[in-house]
Amino acid sequence: MSTEKIPYKIYLSEEELPKQWYNVRADMKKKPAPMLNPGTGKPVTFDDLTPVFCDELVKQELDETTPYIDIPDEILTFYKMYRPSSLVRAYCLEKALGTPAKIYYKFEGNNTSGSHKLNSAIAQAYYAKKQGLKGVTTETGAGQWGTALSMACSYFGLDCRVYMVKVSYEQKPFRREVMRTYGASVTPSPSNTTEVGRKILAEFPDTNGSLGCAISEAVEAAVSTEGYRYVLGSVLSQVLLHQSVIGLESKAAMDKYGIKPDVIIGCAGGGSNLGGLISPFMGEKLRGEADYRIVAVEPASCPSFTRGKYAYDFCDTGKVCPLQKMYTLGSSFMPSPNHAGGLRYHGMSGILSELYDQGLMEAISYEQTQVFEAAQQFARVEGILPAPESSHAIKAAIDEAVRCRETGEEKTILFGLTGTGYFDMYAYAAYNDGTMTDYIPTDEEIAQSFAELPKL
Ligand SMILES: *Cc1c(COP(=O)(O)O)cnc(C)c1O
Repeated sequence: MSTEKIPYKIYLSEEELPKQWYNVRADMKKKPAPMLNPGTGKPVTFDDLTPVFCDELVKQELDETTPYIDIPDEILTFYKMYRPSSLVRAYCLEKALGTPAKIYYKFEGNNTSGSHKLNSAIAQAYYAKKQGLKGVTTETGAGQWGTALSMACSYFGLDCRVYMVKVSYEQKPFRREVMRTYGASVTPSPSNTTEVGRKILAEFPDTNGSLGCAISEAVEAAVSTEGYRYVLGSVLSQVLLHQSVIGLESKAAMDKYGIKPDVIIGCAGGGSNLGGLISPFMGEKLRGEADYRIVAVEPASCPSFTRGKYAYDFCDTGKVCPLQKMYTLGSSFMPSPNHAGGLRYHGMSGILSELYDQGLMEAISYEQTQVFEAAQQFARVEGILPAPESSHAIKAAIDEAVRCRETGEEKTILFGLTGTGYFDMYAYAAYNDGTMTDYIPTDEEIAQSFAELPKL
């Protein structure tokens, strides 16, 4: 098929939108290791999890066999307000790079929250409402998840309490105000409103906070407040399930034109956008129907895949959550204040960790100045101002396209452009002023947090 026939944007009609999510675990012969109850050391049960999470979401979390799960009508209606997201052929970037590669990106930044996180936020808010709860608690790092969840909660009339990593709370006051506009309450974390927050503050009074620490506070707030549950924006298998809508739409759009990606690239914080984007493609790979190269991209300052250990660890600094087997830097790892706040998490999705361990996907890391260089290059030709997190995937896609220029290969590259960077202008300012620095943790620092991994 000649390239001229492929439009800048490939659209899907309402009828072509996915009606079901895809659960990639169903096609994994070796499943991700079960989460463990930290008290008993045994695999968690439905009853262990329901005091913390909504019942229906626990069912989804524990379901490793059902391949397709119907998307409830109320969620489909909400999805129709901002989906399908665009699948764009990056003709202008290809031209600027002089590459024979064909570059496509799936852009999830076209909703007010500015990222893919709304895909799972609306699902989680829906199940909380359906259970008759009063509200939910959560953490937010850079603020995208908190924003998405506050939008979703206001749509369903639920209360939303957000613990926001302190450094982001201070650096991103406008994010906070968006959340408050949607009716959420926002507390900087660590805070003295929870026991775990007070403990962390006593030990590290000058801490910038971390996602792991904010999670502990949000969980404590949920279990100690009647009618509340905790919701999480990444890492969990239920979140990858909801995010599969990204991959299903991408695949449907590409199939319309007979396009098959050779390489699929996504940034990886907790793994939800990447997991969602690759799910249907990985399904084909697992069933032996097709092959794809799949690449996770992470910051060199928080390199869970590339320098982490595949081990059981706590999902949070306060060690109140179940243990998950994952690629981790250790729950006590405190990443440097890299500007890609959404990628500053010590661990990784259990599903992606298992797929990576089986050699079904690769991982690379970049330093932030390289990432911003790619972001600027992309913005100047494709027009979109990308989020720092998303720009990790841009950098990897550009590098791949440049390699194709050198080898003459006409590879098809698909990458996830997870969001926009309008709330990251301090980071862009640092890059533009030439004051941005890179920080790579030393082996000693990582060894210190490895030493605190739970001993099983
Ligand atoms: C949160 C976030 C990420 C990283 O989270 P994942 O769960 O790994 O997808 C990436 N990009 C943006 C814009 C985000 O908000």
